[in-house]
Amino acid sequence: MSRTERPPLPERLPVNAVDAHTHLDACGLTTPAQVAEALDRAGSVGVTRAVTVADDLTAARWAAEAATWDERLYAAVAIHPTRTATFGEKEQAEIERLAARPRVVAIGETGLDYYWDYSPPQAQQEAFRWHIDLAKRLGKPLMIHDRDAHDDVLRILDEEGPPETVIFHCFSGDAGVARRCLDAGYVLSFAGPVTFRNARPLREAAKLVPLGQFTVETDAPFLTPHPFRGRPNEPYCVAYTVRDLADLREESVEELAEATTAAAERVFRFRSVTSS
Ligand SMILES: [Zn+2]
Ligand SMILES: [Zn+2]
Repeated sequence: MSRTERPPLPERLPVNAVDAHTHLDACGLTTPAQVAEALDRAGSVGVTRAVTVADDLTAARWAAEAATWDERLYAAVAIHPTRTATFGEKEQAEIERLAARPRVVAIGETGLDYYWDYSPPQAQQEAFRWHIDLAKRLGKPLMIHDRDAHDDVLRILDEEGPPETVIFHCFSGDAGVARRCLDAGYVLSFAGPVTFRNARPLREAAKLVPLGQFTVETDAPFLTPHPFRGRPNEPYCVAYTVRDLADLREESVEELAEATTAAAERVFRFRSVTSS
C-alpha cells in the first residue's frame, strides 16, 4: 500500500452527504471526464454533491466553469488570504463577475491566515473586508478560512457586520472559539483534522456543536481523514469523516449525515440554483 495511492472506497453512507469544501483542480481533476469520475466515486459511497473552492483567479475561472459541467458540483470563488499581497481592482472586478454566476454558491475562501507568511496581515484584512462586502451585496454565503487568526476574523466580521450566512471552513478552533461562532449564528464545517486522534481541543469543540449548525468537508487534496492521513484526499473521503464524527458525538451515521446535508442545503441554497 503506497502513501501516494488513494484510500479505499469506504462503506456507502446510509444517507446522502455533501462535501462542503474541496479543491478538485488541486487534486489534478480538471477535465470534465475527470470531474465526472471523481463525482461518480463520491456518489458510489453516498457523497452526492460537492462544492469546489477557488483560491486564486485561475482557480476561480476554472471552478465557476466546472460547476456548469455537472449537476453534482457547485463552486465558491475568492482570493485566498495567503494570495492577497497584490490583490487589487483587476482581481476584484473578475471575482465579482464570477461570483455572480448562479452555480457559484459562496464567496470563499477568504479570511485570515497568520500561519503562513505569504501576504502581509494588512493586505489580508483589507481583502477580507472586501469579500465580506461582496457576499452582502450578492446575498451569498461567506466561506471563511481562519488559520491562527480566530480573534481577528471574528473582530473584523463584527466590525463590518457579517452577511446573513457565514461558514467557517475546516474549523480549527477549540470549544471556546466554537461557542463564539455559534453565538454569532455562524455555521462550522469539519474537515479531516477533526478525525485526527491528537486534535483533542478540536474534537472537544466538535462535540458541542448542535446538529444542524455544521457541515462536513474534505478540503482535498490535503487533510485526508483518519486512518488515511497523508494519502491523497477526494470528495468520497468525506464519508470517513461522517462516520468518525458520528462515533465521536455518539450519534447515528444516519442522523449525522442527514443533519450535515440539511445544513449544507440551507447554507448553499442548492435547491434554488439552476444549471445555467
Ligand atoms: Zn482554507
Ligand atoms: Zn480550502
